Amino acid sequence: MSNKSKKKIFLDLLKKLFPNPKIELDYENELQLLVAIIMSAQATDKQVNKINKTFFKKFSTPKELFELWEDKIKQEIKSIWLYNSKAKNIFNTSKILAFDYNQKIPTSIKELQKLPWVWIKTAKVFLIATKNAPYLAVDTHVHRVLNRWGFVKTKTPLQTDKEVLKVFNKNEIIDLHHRLVLFWRYYCTARNHKCEKDELLKDICPYKENTK
Ligand code: SF4
Repeated sequence: MSNKSKKKIFLDLLKKLFPNPKIELDYENELQLLVAIIMSAQATDKQVNKINKTFFKKFSTPKELFELWEDKIKQEIKSIWLYNSKAKNIFNTSKILAFDYNQKIPTSIKELQKLPWVWIKTAKVFLIATKNAPYLAVDTHVHRVLNRWGFVKTKTPLQTDKEVLKVFNKNEIIDLHHRLVLFWRYYCTARNHKCEKDELLKDICPYKENTK
């Protein structure tokens, strides 16, 4: 199969599976989303959403979040993995937003990365969700899917990140990030290839072809 037709099949498949994709973290404003993204490292969106049902009621601005202080934030999020460091980062983020950024969240990757624990991937996820920005945030999962499908042949997510714009153009990338996340989460999982039996996937996934 040529790369061009494989890409079309893949993009059509993702559109069919996830016609209206969106991030699965619950949030009502950009501050809540940023906090949820910080909390979501090595945790599931379900765990984060559960905690945030009550935590999000405790603040509505960066200053209010800062005024909770680190200890209270720790208490609120203590059921999540790495809660100590996440509480510290949320608190420090709120301080910077409240006092250096005039309560506003920056809108560029460069500025976002100045916040504690906001890496390039985190910044991209935030901008994809809030601005529909044409980015793909490559983590180990996206790296796995793109390699299994043979779009890239790379060893690390960083290498995949560098290659990805050679595979998909900017128009194709809109919505692709959310679709890829849903795809690795519900189909192309890390542990096995159980979707080989899926009617929609079994004849079109090129994994076996790539590993021959
Ligand atoms: S068979 Fe399923 S899990 Fe395996 S590479 Fe294909 S889509 Fe992914």
